Amino acid sequence: MPLQIIRNDITKVACDAIVNAANATLLGGGGVDGAIHKAAGKGLLLECMKLGGCKTGQAKITGGHKLPCKYVIHTVGPKWKGGQNGERELLISCYRESLRLALSHDCRSVAFPLISSGVYGYPKDQALKVAVDCITEFLIEHDMLVYLVVFDKSSFQISEKLFTDIAAFIDDKYVDMHFIFRPTQRDAWGDSTFLGTTEILPPNETDQARLSPDVFQEGATTASKKVSLPTQTPTISLEDALKREDESFSQALLRKIDEKGMTDSACYKKANVDRKLFSKIRGDVHYHPSKPTAIAFAIALELNLDETKDLLQRAGFALSHSSKFDIIIEYFITHGNYNVFEINEALFAFDQTLLGA
Ligand code: ADP
Repeated sequence: MPLQIIRNDITKVACDAIVNAANATLLGGGGVDGAIHKAAGKGLLLECMKLGGCKTGQAKITGGHKLPCKYVIHTVGPKWKGGQNGERELLISCYRESLRLALSHDCRSVAFPLISSGVYGYPKDQALKVAVDCITEFLIEHDMLVYLVVFDKSSFQISEKLFTDIAAFIDDKYVDMHFIFRPTQRDAWGDSTFLGTTEILPPNETDQARLSPDVFQEGATTASKKVSLPTQTPTISLEDALKREDESFSQALLRKIDEKGMTDSACYKKANVDRKLFSKIRGDVHYHPSKPTAIAFAIALELNLDETKDLLQRAGFALSHSSKFDIIIEYFITHGNYNVFEINEALFAFDQTLLGA
């Protein structure tokens, strides 16, 4: 996944470079700056002393010293002064300059904290949006693995309205698998010997398979992905259905990319899927993606709900109302929001697996 949002202490992230939300002196401070200096040891401070400070919006690079990374990129975020004082432009510049430095030092992976969102007071939801926008803009042009490290969950906030909307949507749709009331088989078929009762059934085998965590694993075997078909089958003609009978996930994906007039790279980048993984899918007609990967492509292609279900089915998956993950995906598709990163922010807020690979 080119952009990964993780919850961690940035000093523990092993990658080529980590970014420090420093102050203009570059001589250490509180928050993430203090944690980085503490973990890196005195050598970092000695190196920083030679740099002569750094202006807001700019970035400078040092070695990683005792940290598990080669470099530390120090950038100075803006202090929040109400938002009318160029804060956004300066914050954008922090991300761009840091990424530019990472690129010129051949870094293949870099980890960012949410710059300015701590002591400097930048509203967390806006700081997050700037971070995600800058990083995704960069990733359109460059191959790099970028981690956005959030320390505590409260630093990662989608807007209250979106959160409430999604929560209400989940409430509305969510079916607790352990308490599904459904008619007996006879009732369902309208048998004349109708018993007039309903029974509480445990989740059946296919439901359990659908909910099992291995559906989230890339390349899981077909056997482990035994799933039930979506209840609402897509409305395509019999002729089309027969034509597509044997179409695999990979074939359907490539066909849809062509139909949408997209390039491969525009599609996998929009899906937040790594180029190498896309090549694998392209080269292997029978490739079985994980569910988050399959959905990420459906989102990148801006498929409607039925088309999404159709594509997922080719990878052995369904969307159901017994999974919060699925309902959140449905929420975004039905609201016409196909921004994988915004969807990931919401999935993260609800403790769900993120899209992409
Ligand atoms: P700033 O002065 O730029 O606001 P802070 O260090 O105060 O910098 O906070 C920036 C962000 O880094 C905050 O969201 C804070 O929660 C987070 N943070 C603090 N310590 C760590 C850490 N060890 N790893 C990752 N993020 C951290």
